[in-house]
Amino acid sequence: MIRADLEALDAADPLAPFRDLFTLPEGVIYLDGNSLGALPRGTGPRVAEVIAQEWGNGLIRSWNDAGWIEMSARVAHKIARVIGASPGTVAVGDSTSVNLFKLLAAALKMRPGRHVIVSERTNFPTDLYVAEGLAALLAQGHELRLVDADAIHAALQPDVAVLMLTHVNYRTGAMHDMPAVTRAAHEAGALMLWDLAHSTGAVPLDLAGADPDFAVGCGYKYLNGGPGAPAFLHVAERLHATARYPITGWLGHADPFAFEPAYRAAPGIAGAVVGTPSILAMAALEVGVDIVLQAPMPDVYAKSQRQTEIFAALVAEQCPDMGFALVTPPDAATRGSQVSFTHQNAYAIMQALIARGVIGDFRAPDILRFGFTPLYIGFAELWDAVRILRDVMQSGEWNTERFRTRQKVT
Ligand SMILES: *Cc1c(COP(=O)(O)O)cnc(C)c1O
Repeated sequence: MIRADLEALDAADPLAPFRDLFTLPEGVIYLDGNSLGALPRGTGPRVAEVIAQEWGNGLIRSWNDAGWIEMSARVAHKIARVIGASPGTVAVGDSTSVNLFKLLAAALKMRPGRHVIVSERTNFPTDLYVAEGLAALLAQGHELRLVDADAIHAALQPDVAVLMLTHVNYRTGAMHDMPAVTRAAHEAGALMLWDLAHSTGAVPLDLAGADPDFAVGCGYKYLNGGPGAPAFLHVAERLHATARYPITGWLGHADPFAFEPAYRAAPGIAGAVVGTPSILAMAALEVGVDIVLQAPMPDVYAKSQRQTEIFAALVAEQCPDMGFALVTPPDAATRGSQVSFTHQNAYAIMQALIARGVIGDFRAPDILRFGFTPLYIGFAELWDAVRILRDVMQSGEWNTERFRTRQKVT
């Protein structure tokens, strides 16, 4: 492979015009949009408008006049389209962690005779911590049972209330077969909860087809909603009438402005809503979601698969015998939009890359993770990033105290 091959792919890329919808700093190759999506050009002006006009001038009138009260349902409707869910099954707000708590609690209540939550040992820690905390809070003998990916089917015993998995693994990028795993959970009488943090906006999703009971997802990764953007949750329509959520806030009430002293759940997905959404954050998220909806998902996924394949091949070709071991599945159909390598000096190498403008991230204990966001990353950049990686390794520049010192956020 030579750089000109990749320049040719850029010239023929139907998604190339999307890059202009984002601001990326000069001299940066951003391979971390799976952790924090890039800033859309439209976000600043839109948020500035909400601040100056809707908040500054409209004041409280904007809940009605600027449609603030409908905003989260509107964004939820758009996210439902991104994940292939039926209209009216998605709510936006809170964080992914809080939404996990809400849905896991609702799930456990639906399976009173069963006390086990099954998850993967390598799941993202917040998912596991939330399950652990909920089990302790309920104090009814609930238990979080952790298994390896190849033992999930065997773990679906009659005491399992809910199977909680992340669709694309945050470390390795391995992707589960959502329809097959969901079917297995249902056949075992368990409920299925998917975490779509690393899937939403990155891989094709068909929630209506796979038909899991619950899902949660993140607004600040491939949806480009900004740091700490509101998260979302999905509940299958068949469960709306019986789901009981553990946080019964006033905006999930059937008639919030009746100010009744007793809680009555709003019908449909609205019962999963808790309190007042952050309108500034919601406005920013909507700009990101609108861009994702404009991009045809088959093009996004085709480019993602191509980029992960090329990046892995370039590292193998340009950086042989340097200690990098690919941990992402080699088959593009079973991975998300990232490529990860283990290396014994992963942290310092990643810091050296970031100092050179190639931004990926480190995941403990020994993983270098590179995310590919087809809306704003080109092919020739992959060549440049791998050349810089090779330089950093050959020069030994990673091997200094400055790059070994761990920062708070890795
Ligand atoms: C990013 C991520 C989260 C984030 O949770 P927050 O509550 O937004 O901090 C949760 N789960 C997974 C799998 C993630 O990748």
